[in-house]
Amino acid sequence: MSDRAAAMDQLNMRRSNLSLVLRELRKQPRSRAQLALDINMTKGAVSSLVAELEDRLLLRISSAGTPGTVGRPARDVSVVNSRALGLGISLSVDYLVAAVVNLAGETIARHEVPVHTPGLSAQDLTSAVVELAQKVARKPPFGDPGVLLAGVAVGAPDLVDARSGTVRRSPTIGLTDFPLRRVLLGELQGLTRNIQVDNDANLAALAECRGGGSAAGVSNLVYLTGSTGIGGGIISEGRLFRGAAGYAGEVGHMVIDPRGSLCTCGSIGCWEAECGLEAFLVAAADEGDAVRDVRTPLDERFDVVVSRAQQGDLRTLAAVQKAGTSLGLGLSTLINVFNPDVIVLGGYFAKLFPFLIEPVRRTVHQRVMAESLAGCRVLRSELGLYASAIGAAHFVIDQIITNPTAVPFGEESSARIKVPDLENAS
Ligand SMILES: [Zn+2]
Repeated sequence: MSDRAAAMDQLNMRRSNLSLVLRELRKQPRSRAQLALDINMTKGAVSSLVAELEDRLLLRISSAGTPGTVGRPARDVSVVNSRALGLGISLSVDYLVAAVVNLAGETIARHEVPVHTPGLSAQDLTSAVVELAQKVARKPPFGDPGVLLAGVAVGAPDLVDARSGTVRRSPTIGLTDFPLRRVLLGELQGLTRNIQVDNDANLAALAECRGGGSAAGVSNLVYLTGSTGIGGGIISEGRLFRGAAGYAGEVGHMVIDPRGSLCTCGSIGCWEAECGLEAFLVAAADEGDAVRDVRTPLDERFDVVVSRAQQGDLRTLAAVQKAGTSLGLGLSTLINVFNPDVIVLGGYFAKLFPFLIEPVRRTVHQRVMAESLAGCRVLRSELGLYASAIGAAHFVIDQIITNPTAVPFGEESSARIKVPDLENAS
């Protein structure tokens, strides 16, 4: 092995050990001696790793030891949760939302801007994202000494090339071949040089299993956005399943009824043409009805739908049955293909979950072999509108946990955070 290769090996080993120490201490603060025992390293090795992470301000050593212990108390080492914060932003039809997640994986801030994105030019949409990022980054705890913005990740619907950060084709927000990451790198360079762009369903899936979501700790999961389109985010063995070119999870265009409705993609009977948001609203109410008024926030329109369903309104209940059956048909295929532990329903599916779940379960039970279905739970997303933004922020935090050396020593500016390798995260 060449000297250079050996040095690289050593560097990688050091980085992965720093990551291990950070991950362990995230679970629970403890003394260096205890940590050495827990991760099977020498006390000297652990002390050196802890010292480096402390110099990067990622760890703090408590001034007092554990009370009640005899002799010289061992001082606990804990993670400084606010040292690196991830900012996630998601773009959807009616909203831009932002979430900030700390190193403990806690969502510490949420922001929401109602905006009808398909009506905006690419430039105006970018400006809205930049404005939102800057607004969030001006609020505490940003600006406090030692608090870094570790990066910004943006979730966009439909076909997104995460490697280059290009929105390839998004009918939902009206972008085609738009290099969103490159544009944001220019616009936000004073804030951060770590910018990622990914598919919104992928990021939402990450949010659901990284904690805070319905499926905390689950390793095999399918998340479905229930919006104008139906996007899928697939977590397999704890990692995002991206496919060859990164477009895996575009489940909305599975054909489930060859004699069905015309889809925006030009095909007939796609899943989202049968039970996407628009299809549901058209089935639930005539044009001119309050629930189809795009000027009213979607949440409020669905409050009306839910109240109608509760009162037994026949038109609403028929629309729910139709959507639930179509949803169940598509889910059957996903369950047969991926054998997930959990399916999480987002968007309007989450809003109508108590009404949809019966036709969904019935259809799934008819179509999936018992062995594949065993233990698969269908849950509603508890993160609502914020799922993708929270997942995006988690994505940034994952990058830091995987590579703590991205965080500079002392109180250097966050604009100096190195862009970690996308392949290494999540
Ligand atoms: Zn289609």
